[in-house]
Amino acid sequence: MKGMLIDNSTLSYRDGTPLSTELGCRPHKSTRFLRRGEARYQDRLPELYRDRSECCGCTACRAVCPLDAISMLPDEEGFEYPVVDAAVCIGCGKCVAICPFKKHVIE
Ligand code: SF4
Ligand code: SF4
Repeated sequence: MKGMLIDNSTLSYRDGTPLSTELGCRPHKSTRFLRRGEARYQDRLPELYRDRSECCGCTACRAVCPLDAISMLPDEEGFEYPVVDAAVCIGCGKCVAICPFKKHVIE
């Protein structure tokens, strides 16, 4: 996935609303999914963050994913956040389990 070019027209919010590509930006508030319509496990897609304040961009989720389904892509300010390829994701939950923000909430 590293260095992979992403077609903006295939990115969407969790509710399926296409992302705005105005000015080349990808504004978002919650976890983004690539190819969400092709998800094999629609009901098990991970919610890595509901808002950018819940993600520091540490890349731990990408590193632990056994299917290499997570890419780090920049937002409109250039900060990278994880994007899940829904067509590859098997919903194992490892990315959510390793996220330091989620552990902080659990503790
Ligand atoms: S749920 Fe599993 S397969 Fe899906 S993105 Fe997370 S670690 Fe990867
Ligand atoms: S592990 Fe959590 S904080 Fe780190 S990039 Fe993934 S979602 Fe963001």
